[in-house]
Amino acid sequence: MDSAFSHHNHHQCQTSAVEQARRLCEEQGVRFTKLREQLFTLIWESHKPVTAYKLLDQIKDSDFSATPPTVYRTLDFLLEQGLIHRINSLNAFIGCCQPGARHTGTFIICERCEHAQEVDHANILHAIQQVSEQHHFQMKSYVTEVYGLCPQCQHPDEHDNNKGLA
Ligand SMILES: [Zn+2]
Ligand SMILES: [Zn+2]
Ligand SMILES: [Zn+2]
Repeated sequence: MDSAFSHHNHHQCQTSAVEQARRLCEEQGVRFTKLREQLFTLIWESHKPVTAYKLLDQIKDSDFSATPPTVYRTLDFLLEQGLIHRINSLNAFIGCCQPGARHTGTFIICERCEHAQEVDHANILHAIQQVSEQHHFQMKSYVTEVYGLCPQCQHPDEHDNNKGLA
């Protein structure tokens, strides 16, 4: 998997994510319906988290049967299957880089170009488990969203623009 912050063939990210999702749904015995696939493909359109509102707007053009309730239900399904994550601070959705492995997701998010990269790390989970235990707290899930500048945006002069960045 290429970094969201590097120039890469994103079409390949997208197609392999869709293929993987289809395979995982098959293994789970759940249906990867047309709407589920359409929405998932749209979410993988880039490494920028996308809001439900924008997804709804985009899908309306290709699928007239898509209504807010069906789109929200489909997003819930994709979340439940661990195929996408919700970025809470942006109230937006992003494709999971390691679907199939249960996790909530840790993200580094560029506040300038809005690209986000999933960066799960055992040490982060371990530290959070440790502090939870110290407080006799029963942890269920955690969300870590780190904001800053990606390599491209730290040196905007060297890269004329980030338009080529998927
Ligand atoms: Zn990509
Ligand atoms: Zn993930
Ligand atoms: Zn950036």
